[in-house]
Amino acid sequence: MGLFGGLFDKKVCAICGGEIGLLGNRKLEDGNLCKQCASQLSPWFSDRRHSTVNEIAAQLAYRNDNRARAAAFHVTRSYGDSFTKVLVDDAMQAFMITGADNFAKENPDVFDFGMVTGCRPDIHEYRHEVMGKDAEGHPVSFQPRRYHYDYQFDMTVTVNHPFIDDMHFSLNSGTIEDADRDELDRYVAMTEDVVETMTGRRPDLSGEVPYHAPFCPDCGHDLAPDGRCLFCHPLIPVAPPRPAAPRPAPAPAPQAPRPQAAPAHGGPQGAPQQRGPQGNQQPQQRGPQGNQQPQQRGPQGNQQQSKPAQHSGSTHETSRQPAQNSGRPGNQSEPPRGGGPRGRG
Ligand SMILES: [Zn+2]
Ligand SMILES: [Zn+2]
Repeated sequence: MGLFGGLFDKKVCAICGGEIGLLGNRKLEDGNLCKQCASQLSPWFSDRRHSTVNEIAAQLAYRNDNRARAAAFHVTRSYGDSFTKVLVDDAMQAFMITGADNFAKENPDVFDFGMVTGCRPDIHEYRHEVMGKDAEGHPVSFQPRRYHYDYQFDMTVTVNHPFIDDMHFSLNSGTIEDADRDELDRYVAMTEDVVETMTGRRPDLSGEVPYHAPFCPDCGHDLAPDGRCLFCHPLIPVAPPRPAAPRPAPAPAPQAPRPQAAPAHGGPQGAPQQRGPQGNQQPQQRGPQGNQQPQQRGPQGNQQQSKPAQHSGSTHETSRQPAQNSGRPGNQSEPPRGGGPRGRG
C-alpha cells in the first residue's frame, strides 16, 4: 500500500457501497459508480458523466421496476432485421427497441406508446460512381457518369421519459442496393409501419427511394427490360450474315416458292400447299441463326477490349464491390470476362 500511495486509493460505489476495482470506476458528477451498477443502467441512457448519484439511484430503481414489465412482455409484432428490433406488445400497448432475447434477464426498457413524442425515419442514400476501364485497364468514368446506390433505413424515436430522450437505430443491417428493389420496397413499407405504430399516422415514404434504371456494369448502357445489355449481348445482329453455304432445302417442300396461287382448287390440295412454305421457312430461319452465334461473339470480344468488366469500382466503400456485380440483372448471361485470349489482343 505504502509504496504506491494514493494511486490505488480504493473508491467506493455510491450506489451499492462496494469497492471499485482499478479499472472499474464509472464517474458520476458527484461520486463514483461501480461497473456492476453501471451495467444495470438503460442501454439508451448516455449521460452518466453528467448525472448525480441521486439521478442514477432513481434510474436504477426504475430499471428494477422495468424488469417485471419486460418479463411479462409478449411480442405480437416485430420490425427490423438488424440486431436491434422494434418489438410490440399490442395487448400491453407498449414497445421495446432491443436486441434482447431473454427479456427477464436482459431487462430491455418497455415504453408505453403514450410516451412517444416523435418518430423520424432517416433513410440514408449512399452514392458510388461505377467506373469502367479504358484499353489499358485504368478506371475511367462512363459518359454520362454512372452511379450505384445503397440505402440504409435508420430511425429515431423520441420519448417523454425521465431517463431516456431518444433511440436511434437501424432497421436493416448493412445496406441494401438499388438493384434489390423488392428489398427496398419491403423496408420502405416497414419504415411506414413503424412510424404508424409509433405515431398513429402513416407517412408516404415511397419517394424516399427513387428508382434508378439498371445499367450494364461493363459498358454503362441502359439494360433492356429483360436485363440484357444490347451492346454486350445483342439480341439481333445489326446486319444478318449472308449464309455462307445455303443448306439444301429439306426434302418435303418441293412446291415451296408458289405462294397462295391456287387456293381455288381447294380440297386436299390446299393442305399440302400451305405446308410447303412452312417447311421452307423453318430451315431458312435456322440458317442465319446458326451463323449468328459466332457473329454475336465477335462484337463481344471486341467490346471487351475497350471495356471494363471486372472493376466496376466505387469511389468509396469498396467492400461492396462483389455484391455490386452479382446483383446486376445484366450478369444473368455473363459476358466472357476478360475475353479470353481475344481480350488481350
Ligand atoms: Zn455499485
Ligand atoms: Zn454492356
